[in-house]
Amino acid sequence: MPSRENRVQARFEAMNRKFRVIDYPLDSKGDQLNVSDFYGENVFDISTTKEIPDDVRKELLDVARSGKRLDKNHADIVANSVTKWATDRGATHFCHWFQPLTGSSAEKHDAFLTIKNGRPIERLSVSQLLQGEPDASSLPHGGSRSTFEARGYTTWDLTSPMFLVEGPNGKTLCIPTAYVSYEGHALDMKTPLLRSISALSEEATKFLKLIGRTEADHVGVTIGCEQEYFLVDKAFYYSRPDLVMTGRTMMGSSAVKNQQLEDHYFGVIPDRVMAFMQELDYELYRLGIPAKTRHNEVAPGQYEIAPIFSDANVAADNNQLLMAMIRKVAERHDFVALMHEKPYQGINGSGKHVNWSLADNTGFNLLEPGQQDPHQNTVFLAAVAMVVEAVRRHSGALRMAIASHSNDHRLGANEAPPSIISVFLGSTLEKILESIKDGKKVDSSEGSTLMEINAKQLADLMKDNTDRNRTSPFAFTGNKFEFRAVGSSAAIGFPVSILNAAVLDVFKDTNAYLEAEIQKGVAPEQALLQITEKWVKDSFHVIFNGDGYSQEWVEEAERRGLPNYKTTADALKVLKDEKQMAFLLESKVYNKAELDMRYNVLVERYVKHREIEFKILNNLVNQNVIPAVLDYKKSLFDVMTQQKSLKIETAIEGEVVKTINLALRDLYEIYTRYQTCIEQELGKEPEDVIDFIASEFLPLSEGLAEVCNRIEDLIPNRYWSLPKYHEMLFIK
Ligand code: ADP
Ligand code: MG
Repeated sequence: MPSRENRVQARFEAMNRKFRVIDYPLDSKGDQLNVSDFYGENVFDISTTKEIPDDVRKELLDVARSGKRLDKNHADIVANSVTKWATDRGATHFCHWFQPLTGSSAEKHDAFLTIKNGRPIERLSVSQLLQGEPDASSLPHGGSRSTFEARGYTTWDLTSPMFLVEGPNGKTLCIPTAYVSYEGHALDMKTPLLRSISALSEEATKFLKLIGRTEADHVGVTIGCEQEYFLVDKAFYYSRPDLVMTGRTMMGSSAVKNQQLEDHYFGVIPDRVMAFMQELDYELYRLGIPAKTRHNEVAPGQYEIAPIFSDANVAADNNQLLMAMIRKVAERHDFVALMHEKPYQGINGSGKHVNWSLADNTGFNLLEPGQQDPHQNTVFLAAVAMVVEAVRRHSGALRMAIASHSNDHRLGANEAPPSIISVFLGSTLEKILESIKDGKKVDSSEGSTLMEINAKQLADLMKDNTDRNRTSPFAFTGNKFEFRAVGSSAAIGFPVSILNAAVLDVFKDTNAYLEAEIQKGVAPEQALLQITEKWVKDSFHVIFNGDGYSQEWVEEAERRGLPNYKTTADALKVLKDEKQMAFLLESKVYNKAELDMRYNVLVERYVKHREIEFKILNNLVNQNVIPAVLDYKKSLFDVMTQQKSLKIETAIEGEVVKTINLALRDLYEIYTRYQTCIEQELGKEPEDVIDFIASEFLPLSEGLAEVCNRIEDLIPNRYWSLPKYHEMLFIK
């Protein structure tokens, strides 16, 4: 356990760090290379790599898009060329890289080395490329072992590029794979995501064709994730057992100055952090991850990185890789990156704003208001209306999809969206939809009805539509929706698969309606306007542009009939609600067994995480807080004894002791109840304790932390062993 000396030493180390300089690649003249010169050098992408002949590439891309069977010969060509490519670059091993339900990535390495006819060669066989068989029993499967076999299979996902990961002493080729059980049930984040993308893609393409955009033969889901994180010096990190074990501080008195002066957001990036960000960008570029934006976030010690958006499946893989790279590069700079949603109480938490849209193969973004083309605007309004309707129908499922023990601390606090899922459209778009709903004119001064709204007007209206609302969980931001409620540590595959399926559900109904109307002889454009109007009318009450933090909103939302699943324990019950889950089964994005499995895994993970937190807090109280109080009291008694022997008055010292005794009494009172909870509740079946943990034990632990913070403020600095907030947040 850390001691006071430890904390002094940590401060000393943190304050004396030098920033790290890397060897940036140079050209033959010694000038720095442009990023475009080395971008993607660690990526083997079948759509661009020179190692694959064009005719084979065409076939492979066709397989990737259509999902038809891969020809063994083509797979053989890929296996051979990627082996040469990787081993030429020094790779010794390959691995199937996948995303189990832990939320992080998993990999099992095998050497390229094979012995053939007694001689060593480097080889990756077709079957090794296509399929792997990791032991599934040690990865979360939600008790599925009784239902399924423990065996799990990984299968190559040829829609996501392979990449090289560099260790200190060698490289590994990572092959992105899906991960399924023996019976074909998805044990991972990727499989349902892929299903949701292709189902939505199919329905959205059909939609475009129905309304006469026949040039579109494919619609893809586009995703861009803004990733927030904190950096803390590793000397502080390792002096805080709570950070090491849980990723968040379980207690800590707020720094007197934190973010109230609003001086950190977009502020000058300190050199040591800048050195980290530059190395991170460099590594990401080599991995073909198009990092675009980097800046300070609102809280001290908090930062953000956002790559350029891409196809949803690649974006999901890239986000996993990005989080891993943030952690890895941070370490090289003697930082630890905290991806937890709420590492520190009282200041902003971290989210991962998932920007989402639909675009066809011609580059047409369905959520982009048109500049010139009136038809585009009809599509735009229809697309917006469909997404809003999707959120209305499936807000419970969307809330469930972002639920985690760590996101619970962020939702509804310090600029994070609340747990009520609503849609923010900005005042302009809301006004337009309101007119649709009421069948009114858009802008009486212009004298045009909405049904005749012309392109220029809409473009003008949208141009200045820069409203931002940080308190909204789901916001329209110009040409895309931003799912802001997703937590910073989340694997996006899960929430995006739910969002896709929700939108798919409305597309299906829209298409059915359009088909029927067109059959009756209604013009497609007219039919589209009618169904848009229907969706707007049905879903208008899920639109909310106001302050998501206000108590009025909570009450208003209840009047509107919007669900409010306050905690993860509440939200996960949605997985058991047949009515709310029906759309996932109908669309075949998930099957029943997969939903049950997720319920079990998520409930268990919630409970396990909380148990770890509660035990750590217990340790901190015993090993740090109470000893600090006793040390302080001892020193006070020493002073008093000496004063008394010299016949000096000790009334004031007595008052100080009284104050500290009072705090200790309060601490002990809560601590006793807390101890009972630990003894009686922990270790029970997760499903039996999750509600108790969320509604009673967690608040108790927060009450306990509060008294600890009061004590931290009372105790002289020299008796306090845990690094303090102001040190962790400001020393860099
Ligand atoms: P802001 O949200 O502040 O407007 P940006 O415009 O930079 O910020 O966008 C944030 C993220 O949204 C970036 O990752 C960006 O690439 C992504 N993005 C932009 N357009 C789209 C789109 N059509 N589909 C998905 N993501 C997009
Ligand atoms: Mg944004």
